Amino acid sequence: MSVTVVGSIAFDAVKTPFGERERMLGGSAVHFSLAAGFFGDVRVVGPVGDDFGDAEYAVLHEHGVNTDDIERVPGGRTFFWAGEYEYDLNTARTLDTQLNVFGDFAPKLSDASRAADTLFLANIQPDLQREVREQCGGVQIAALDSMNFWIESTRDSLLKTIAGVDMVLMNDAELRMLTEEPNLVKAAAAVRAIGPRVVIAKQGEYGAALFTEDGFFALPAYPLETVRDPTGAGDSFAGGLMGYLDSQGGNADDATLRRAMAYGSTLASFWVEEFGCERAERLTRDEIDERYEQFKRMTAIESVPAT
Ligand code: AMP
Repeated sequence: MSVTVVGSIAFDAVKTPFGERERMLGGSAVHFSLAAGFFGDVRVVGPVGDDFGDAEYAVLHEHGVNTDDIERVPGGRTFFWAGEYEYDLNTARTLDTQLNVFGDFAPKLSDASRAADTLFLANIQPDLQREVREQCGGVQIAALDSMNFWIESTRDSLLKTIAGVDMVLMNDAELRMLTEEPNLVKAAAAVRAIGPRVVIAKQGEYGAALFTEDGFFALPAYPLETVRDPTGAGDSFAGGLMGYLDSQGGNADDATLRRAMAYGSTLASFWVEEFGCERAERLTRDEIDERYEQFKRMTAIESVPAT
């Protein structure tokens, strides 16, 4: 089994109440692939500029991420995002978005990337997401993320892309914005009516909610006392979730989806302890499994004694 992801590959400038970084490795596809890489083979698709150097490739390679489909554009500059968080760490304020090499990128996937079982269209221009979706005809599960930036500027294209995937993972505020529906239950139903079987609403420090035909499930976030930078939380959540589903042979029934959400939350909890990918770079699978087991025990409501 293997996962292919397309999304931003970036340098980020981030400021939170706990510190700042002027230029760190980031991007939705980078956070996603580092997280998914703990579960199996991951291939990342997207362009970078001359400023994306050996040190950045090394972070991906050390986590087993295949970078053959990263296209280096001579003379180009890598996608750049600057954002800021205040004490409510759930909402990023975008200060700058420079698409750079994404401006005229036309993805051409290798046979190996096309043959993936699991596809994640991480946050990036929805036309590009759709071009990749069309090249990966044989996948078992295709999922997508997006954000306000694309809802505002490319809404129709985003709706078309959503119609071609099995699963949507988006922030709850962005699901409401996309569907112009303030009630989250109705917003999830409206997205499911376009085509996807599964909708997962990410709710920052409050966790995530799952909507399928058969049911509803809500999971809190892992209770952390130290959160320094939420950048990458959503993508590492998606990476843990999709990586786990891929490792289960693409099974996406409700029980497997619930476990996948717990893995996603576990991954995200490590990400936010430090800036960008800094914690992820030292993370091990043993640490992930240990926290996952602890999280499972904390949230096992079946084991609450009857009164
Ligand atoms: P999240 O996991 O939701 O915190 O996403 C964080 C990543 O999203 C950052 O590393 C940014 O580089 C990336 N990002 C920010 N804005 C955009 C955008 N408009 N399109 C694609 N990626 C973005």
